[in-house]
Amino acid sequence: MEKECEGGAVGIDLGTTYSCVAVWIQHHNRVEIIHNDQGNKTTPSYVAFTDKQRLIGDAAKNQAAINPTNTVFDAKRMIGRKFSDPNIQKDKLLSPFKVISGVDDQPTIVVQHKGQEKRLCAEEVSAMILMKMRKIAEAYLESPVKNAVITVPAFFNDSQRKATRDAGAIAGLNVMRIINEPTAAAIAYGLDKRSNCVGERNIFVFDLGGGTFDVSLLTIKDKVFEMKATAGNTHLGGEDFDNRMLNYFMQEFNKKNNLDISGNSRALRRLRNACERAKRVLSYNADAFIEIDCLFQGIDFCSSIARTRFEELNMDLFRECIDTVNKCLTDANMDKNCVDDVVLVGGSSRIPKVQQLLQEFFNGKDLCRSINPDEAVAFGAAVQAALLSEGFKNVPNLVLHDVTPLSLGILTRGDLMHVMIPRNTTIPVKMKDVFVTVNDNQTVIRFDVYEGERTRATDNSLLGWFRLSGIPEGPKGHGVMVTFDIDADGILNVTAEDKATGNSNEITISNNTGRMSQKEIARLIQEAKDYEAEDKKFLEKARARNDLDDYVYKIEKALKGMAKGKGIITDAIIKAKSLLYGGRDQHEKDVFEKNRKELEIVFEPMMPRLEN
Ligand code: AMP
Repeated sequence: MEKECEGGAVGIDLGTTYSCVAVWIQHHNRVEIIHNDQGNKTTPSYVAFTDKQRLIGDAAKNQAAINPTNTVFDAKRMIGRKFSDPNIQKDKLLSPFKVISGVDDQPTIVVQHKGQEKRLCAEEVSAMILMKMRKIAEAYLESPVKNAVITVPAFFNDSQRKATRDAGAIAGLNVMRIINEPTAAAIAYGLDKRSNCVGERNIFVFDLGGGTFDVSLLTIKDKVFEMKATAGNTHLGGEDFDNRMLNYFMQEFNKKNNLDISGNSRALRRLRNACERAKRVLSYNADAFIEIDCLFQGIDFCSSIARTRFEELNMDLFRECIDTVNKCLTDANMDKNCVDDVVLVGGSSRIPKVQQLLQEFFNGKDLCRSINPDEAVAFGAAVQAALLSEGFKNVPNLVLHDVTPLSLGILTRGDLMHVMIPRNTTIPVKMKDVFVTVNDNQTVIRFDVYEGERTRATDNSLLGWFRLSGIPEGPKGHGVMVTFDIDADGILNVTAEDKATGNSNEITISNNTGRMSQKEIARLIQEAKDYEAEDKKFLEKARARNDLDDYVYKIEKALKGMAKGKGIITDAIIKAKSLLYGGRDQHEKDVFEKNRKELEIVFEPMMPRLEN
């Protein structure tokens, strides 16, 4: 494999709630998860601002209760999104710090720092956390760290991946690669258990973290990982379980004291922290206790919660996780009995009920818990970082493959989606095809790039468009080469080149050109299935119409300059053209086919003469 950088490189799991950094130690031939200055192997993804200083990690989280409006967390939920995004609007309601709409509808965090108002974007907050992770690694390695592989949820879109890359750059890191979290976890798992596996193994990665949920189906063959399908929810995780418990205790406090604490951010923060601790306890105890002095208006709060109650509060969310598992398998067209290993990743995968439901779904299969779920992602990222670095030997040479979540293509004549890269194609990938002008003397072609599974292009999602001009005048059918290129980070570049003139133009599907969220992807895939019959009908009709159009063009061309016989056939051509251009959606496939047959009867006997 080509080495991309010189010197040491780390793997960073930039989590929604916690982050983790790891490094491949050359002389031990193994990965080391690096502990922070508090001795913890994971660091809260928190940044706080006070009158005197800026705090990151444990120090920031520890003071959150006394400084809630200036303690920023969950920046990852905002990264690469617009303020008007419904997810941001939903988060804003529960967020103790202020988020407003900034330049270009960017979510902007407003805090007080050293007595002055400070405005930050999500990238800046993520950059501060990455900087902290870099310092943790530098302290351990006793040398500067410049290069990193950073992980993101599988369904982060281009904009979110780019924003994460930018955050790395702001933190002074050379981001060698952005890789998907479940893929990284699978690398870790492959290293641990399957480095000598023979044949093919199907591995299901279940990653339930603090703020995101991803599932992935991968195969390992000859030490090569291939991602078959992914699914998930960018908005589901431990914090949602915390919030359910928070609401439960808020109501209890209200009932006992006739007081609503929902408007008091400090009380909320303290109660939320207590809920998170209680939730962890419930993973190994049947009950958990909560005790907070002076929670609100000088009133102490003492209560308890049983594991069964916690499970009831969250059962719909747990079931949603299992539905997503099912969806991923359906997408990959794989029976659950064909899965060899089910790997647990993410702190919330420790919840016993989640494990029980997952095990039941896989007909009692043992779940793989040998990898510490909080560390697996950073572990895999460190391996990938070493693979991409100069001077690393003995790193098992695992090649990574991710897949495209939806088909990508171009709108063609008759509103047809011409698929260039089918759904679930392994990336990086480059595909080429020739597109032709559809009118005589056409000098400009417009390329509309779509994502989705529907036959009619405009039923899919428009990612962007561009024009190629300067095409030499001439008969229709002038070919232009179009290339779809998806890089290892999942970023799509579409190029159109006219070989005749050397003219080219391109588009990168990036910021502001919203790719689908995971939920939308799932909806679109289902929609494509629901409309299968309708789409088939549309395809047949569009093809029949295009055939008739081509035939009329052929006849008109052949007739050019021929006086003889023209009078007889003008009517037939006019009729065909009125069918073609006089309201295309009114006619069915049969009408176009019948008209073409009628034309053939008139023209086919004349054709040899006309063509000579
Ligand atoms: P991650 O994003 O993978 O670091 O996961 C963090 C989430 O896992 C947080 O919401 C934690 O509260 C949750 N978590 C960590 N340990 C446990 C546990 N033992 N039981 C339940 N949730 C946990």
